[in-house]
Amino acid sequence: MEKPLKKLLSEHGFTLKKAYGQNFLSDKSLLEDIVIGAGVTKDDTVLEIGCGAGALTTELAKRAKRVIGYEIDHTLKPILNEVLSEYDNVEIVFSDVMKNKLSDVEKKLGGKYILVANLPYYITTPIVMRFIEEAKNLKAMVIMVQEEVALRFAAKPSTSDYGAITVGINLRGDAEIIMRVPREKFTPAPNVDSAVVKIDIDETKFSGVDFKRVRDVVRVAFSSRRKMLVNNLMNGFKMTRSAAESALGSAGIELTVRGENLSAEQYVMLANAINN
Ligand code: SAM
Repeated sequence: MEKPLKKLLSEHGFTLKKAYGQNFLSDKSLLEDIVIGAGVTKDDTVLEIGCGAGALTTELAKRAKRVIGYEIDHTLKPILNEVLSEYDNVEIVFSDVMKNKLSDVEKKLGGKYILVANLPYYITTPIVMRFIEEAKNLKAMVIMVQEEVALRFAAKPSTSDYGAITVGINLRGDAEIIMRVPREKFTPAPNVDSAVVKIDIDETKFSGVDFKRVRDVVRVAFSSRRKMLVNNLMNGFKMTRSAAESALGSAGIELTVRGENLSAEQYVMLANAINN
């Protein structure tokens, strides 16, 4: 961003809206690092969710072939027009991204794309899960989220951060934290630190799998975190103990485990075993 953020906002008489999760970035080298970390090149189409005052959008426009941004707040239009005036490869859609069908968003993007976003905190999980579960052409997701959420996304089995959402991500790809970002980097500074997570989508990881079925098993497995998996299966699927134990046995899973102990691969095997 060429003009200091506070000057830009005040020249336009813009007041930040907490309800939309408006914590803006302006540190150019941090923004460059995010775009470089995302691996964006001149061959890439990028989807940005929540363009704000356009600081990240600008760095994306410099490096990507095309950027499509969604921004819920129409009052940011004059600011984005000014900041992005020299880039002809950017289009901003002033709309709530969650109110658009993902298939329509993907139609607009036209092919494979990378999602890069400093996500509004209040809808981080719904956005991430929607793209993880439904996106057809997503190559990778590089998202700034609250640090504690980042730890959950990238957690390993048998840790306290590992949960249903981690397994959901692992079914489609691999997540890693690529950067920690202290709260002072935002205007205004939120109460927590943030981190950038990169999720590479690997379509070949579990081909031919009924993801909906696996996700049902994952949901049931984590329905009561402290219970053993066998008990959650019995309650969630109205199975007898012997049927639940037999499914675990044929998936090669010990009978005493909890949901948090299983990898995505093991959930796929378990879902198959329950189906048969
Ligand atoms: N990308 C900018 C940056 O890094 O400085 C702004 C990031 S700010 C954390 C999140 C942005 O998402 C805000 O501009 C907010 O208005 C926008 N936003 C919030 N909810 C949205 C939604 N449902 N659809 C599209 N944009 C949304």
